[in-house]
Amino acid sequence: MENLRDLYQEVILDHNRNPRNFRKMEKPDGFAHGNNPLCGDQIDIYLKIRDGIVEDVSFDGMGCAICTASASMMTLALKRKTEQEATALFESFHHCLTEDEPHPEDVPLGKLEVLAGVKEYPVRVKCATLAWHTFLAALKHRQDSISTE
Ligand code: ZN
Repeated sequence: MENLRDLYQEVILDHNRNPRNFRKMEKPDGFAHGNNPLCGDQIDIYLKIRDGIVEDVSFDGMGCAICTASASMMTLALKRKTEQEATALFESFHHCLTEDEPHPEDVPLGKLEVLAGVKEYPVRVKCATLAWHTFLAALKHRQDSISTE
């Protein structure tokens, strides 16, 4: 168990040191700003959607190690997913971090399971889910802007 924890720690540290898709995006289809005042995490999420599929997602900002690593891993997990798959992944991830029992409709989390350990630290759950909530807001803003056109 200790070795497994070390491995998880190592993955999180790696993503924090070298975050993937850490860049501003020109002309995104969706954008949202996320703020977690409990910790001071501030991130921006940018996304491009084509034919209902997440074509590109990136992030920018300042967050703690958990927030940055979670955002980095999220961008990798979301690429090429449909909007429905992305939403299902978020819900499954959220269950994993906040509830003891998995839900029957939960989808496999893959590498995101590395973050399951934050469940032991409720304050950190907000750090780990900030990028996801912000992603959903970016997705929704895009839909809002479409519906008013
Ligand atoms: Zn944080």
